[in-house]
Amino acid sequence: MSNSRVIDSARIRADFPLLTDSDLCYLDSAATTQKPQAVIDALSRYYQQDNANVHRAAHRLSRQATEAFEQARERVQRFINAAHSSEIIWTRGTTEGINLVAHSFGQLAIAAGDEILISELEHHANIVPWQLLAQRSGAKLRVIPIRDDGDLDLEAFEALLNPRTRLLALTQVSNALGSVNPIETMIEQAHRVGAKVLIDGAQAVSHFPIDVQALDCDFYLFSGHKLYGPTGIGVLYGKQALLSVMPPWQGGGEMIERVSFEASSFQPPPFRFEAGTPNIAGAIGLATAIDYLESFDRRQRLRHEQQLLNYAEQQLKLVPGLQILCNPGQRIGLIPFVIEGLHNFDLGALLDQQDIAIRTGHHCAMPLHQRLGLDGSARASFGLYTTKQDIDRLVQSLLNLLAPET
Ligand code: PLP
Repeated sequence: MSNSRVIDSARIRADFPLLTDSDLCYLDSAATTQKPQAVIDALSRYYQQDNANVHRAAHRLSRQATEAFEQARERVQRFINAAHSSEIIWTRGTTEGINLVAHSFGQLAIAAGDEILISELEHHANIVPWQLLAQRSGAKLRVIPIRDDGDLDLEAFEALLNPRTRLLALTQVSNALGSVNPIETMIEQAHRVGAKVLIDGAQAVSHFPIDVQALDCDFYLFSGHKLYGPTGIGVLYGKQALLSVMPPWQGGGEMIERVSFEASSFQPPPFRFEAGTPNIAGAIGLATAIDYLESFDRRQRLRHEQQLLNYAEQQLKLVPGLQILCNPGQRIGLIPFVIEGLHNFDLGALLDQQDIAIRTGHHCAMPLHQRLGLDGSARASFGLYTTKQDIDRLVQSLLNLLAPET
């Protein structure tokens, strides 16, 4: 794939049918990205030309579908530089992947008295499965605090690590603050005490190149729908050595080797963790989304996103009473803010009347908002198609909303 397309958001916007010929100012890409025509075409082409169940029948169509499905797995393998395609497990999304690890790895490796370490920044998807596991197993959930600037307190992290730490489960990028965690060094530190590391990449994959071998994380997760791909498909990467000893978490067809009423035996990974008919079209659509994303030069893409973020930050600061939350060392993809005297729900509704879509509320990060002393916040988040004009429109609407009535 040649990394040759120039980043020109106005032109890129034309690749997204929902945004073309529309007045919508879409600033909610961290919740889900819009889908390019190429992905929509891949989904309908699959249903029109290749639709059959995979890994089952002897007929041509099934072979065709199986081939496309397994090629999609290999596409994801290359995307995150996994060593083997069998390390790529299809899930419904990040949430399901974390639950899979909590059940399967939890059963294998976590017992009463063990510790699971998460952070104050986590999305509920990376809190609740561990809470449930702690209740089931008698393990203890420990939490890395953040500092006032929104960055993790790394001294507290070091102090929390100990030989009882079995797992560090950490987001790479905060969905509520956009802050970027120094996962490379944190993974190394966690490994030094013998802990395994799970990285929630839901907010990272559409921005950064990911190399799971260089990171040396044990698990890495993401959702297709935040990466310009379809909903209902996601990826759990796990190191082969771990996956091969982890027990299944759901039973059914596809994941077994032999079944009798006395006992069943199971397939090796990835199939052991993929019970039932998978989201075949979703996997193919996700591979197409990756092709789409990688048709742009990575460095240019990152530079462009950073410029847009800086511009948004400068412009939003011009709005009276608007406070951008925290000031982390590195922020990516979004700007979180509150406006004095205007509840975030009202703000979201007022902007919606002008066809401007932002996210408001607790962003599935209630503990973080409690730490910040807020019941919610507003979040403007960006995608490849976001233009300076989108930001100008948001800022102008905020200025109009807040202008004193004459
Ligand atoms: N983790 C983070 C950081 C997220 O931002 C999200 C979604 O917003 C999730 C996990 C859950 O992703 P999904 O709902 O696609 O499973």
